[in-house]
Amino acid sequence: MSNQPEQIGHYVQGRVVPGTSGRKQNVTNPAKGTVIGEVALASAVEVDQAVKAAAAAFPAWSSMPAVRRARIMFKFLGLLNEHRDTLARMITAEHGKVFTDAQGEVTRGIEVVEFACGIPQLLKGDYTEQVSTNIDNWTLRQALGVVAGVTPFNFPVMVPMWMFPVAIACGNTFVLKPSPLDPSPSLLIAELFKEAGLPDGVFNVVQGDKEAVDALLEHPEVKAISFVGSTPIANHIYEVGARQGKRVQALGGAKNHMVVMPDADIDQVVDALIGAAFGSAGERCMAISVAVLVGDVADKVMPKLIERTRALKVLDGENLAAEMGPIVSSAARERIQGYIEQGVAEGARLLVDGRGFDGDQAGAGCKDGFWLGGTLFDNVTPDMKIYREEIFGPVLACMRVADFSEAVELVNAHEFGNGTACYTRDGHVAREFALRIQVGMVGINVPIPVPMAWHGFGGWKRSLFGDTHAYGEEGVRFYTKQKSVMQRWPNSTAKGAEFAMPTAK
Ligand code: NAD
Repeated sequence: MSNQPEQIGHYVQGRVVPGTSGRKQNVTNPAKGTVIGEVALASAVEVDQAVKAAAAAFPAWSSMPAVRRARIMFKFLGLLNEHRDTLARMITAEHGKVFTDAQGEVTRGIEVVEFACGIPQLLKGDYTEQVSTNIDNWTLRQALGVVAGVTPFNFPVMVPMWMFPVAIACGNTFVLKPSPLDPSPSLLIAELFKEAGLPDGVFNVVQGDKEAVDALLEHPEVKAISFVGSTPIANHIYEVGARQGKRVQALGGAKNHMVVMPDADIDQVVDALIGAAFGSAGERCMAISVAVLVGDVADKVMPKLIERTRALKVLDGENLAAEMGPIVSSAARERIQGYIEQGVAEGARLLVDGRGFDGDQAGAGCKDGFWLGGTLFDNVTPDMKIYREEIFGPVLACMRVADFSEAVELVNAHEFGNGTACYTRDGHVAREFALRIQVGMVGINVPIPVPMAWHGFGGWKRSLFGDTHAYGEEGVRFYTKQKSVMQRWPNSTAKGAEFAMPTAK
């Protein structure tokens, strides 16, 4: 057996193709710190080949009856369910998240495919008979053409599935640019789609980095871009894409607060905070990274949080007992460690320090993995960098506020507005929270309120650039354009030219 790392290429015109740019990047197993693959990084020429394949497939795909596109989607759904654990294993190997969490990720992606199976109903138009005598008017929605998705490392299956099932069901053809940190699931997804009967060229994958993204942004055949990633890149994609006349939805970073009222159930609060802060090692855009403790609730919550953070089962993600796996890369771990140092320097109280976690404790062969334990800060204040910026790691910042109004003001003043939660038993407080909070996704006694496939996902403020949320009916609107048709038949045509603005007669 060869010890050569696996070569991970692109998927164009219904088959895997090797990279030709000569540029590659290592793919690492973060639990072990070992190189397991080499992913090709596409040049503009390779991106152009994928876009051309997608453009060539568009006329036939977009004119296929929606119900036949839906039947292919149903077959794809069946295959995804059969391969759910294989996809989850690939995620754990390249991303590091624990296997059960990876299974959950795949399921949440599959739910969007289930939604897309209903595309004939979703594309139904509106019709008005007799807008004027003998004239009818209807509106319908048609696909845009070639659309592209650029996705982050932290959900290599779910986030692409926020995009392409809806886009493709609507009649578009697609080019996906996954994160080079965990590129393999995208190729299995492409193969399953082909097996389901998807015509070649409808779904393509280009692996790569900034160079590939720039080529997609500049390509005149790409009509829309869906992006999910960090805020600076989301902002850049939005500006450049819009300048090129493309539709853009660009979802960015987050700093999600959980407000804990004094009447909340403390055990439920502790469970929620531990799971939402440290699940997936905090590398979720909906992770809770700030606990806002109202009134005297901190005295009850903090001792339990300290105990539970210390007791986290930080293990190789393949171990079914694992609660938290490694950090995705050594660079990400260094960045997070830098924030912990910064928090100490700024005067926050470090109650549990995850630095120096020994990989040997995580399992056999994990010594050189990218490990970090759960980290807990108290007495964090709004001026601190560890509060203002997204850390994207297993670090929970606790803040103390006097009352509900101060908590709401704090959350609303933050530049990010992706997700938030409020724990309380008081219905009025819960209602006020949902009403007043300037955040796109709100949980009432639900720590990670990721909306279901038919509701759509999106934050506010600098967590989303663009007008529509991902998936759900917002997704259908993003991936289609409205057309209005007005008709009259010759035997009902009025006599003579009309020079005045037509009105109903
Ligand atoms: P990232 O911004 O570094 O990368 C995202 C994508 O952009 C990747 O495909 C990457 O290759 C590409 N990219 C990176 N630099 C680029 C550049 N200079 N020009 C063009 N493209 C570039 O994000 P990440 O580290 O992969 O993912 C983590 C981030 O994603 C976090 O900020 C997290 O909050 C965010 N995220 C947001 C959501 C959401 O729904 N709002 C969901 C998941 C992740």
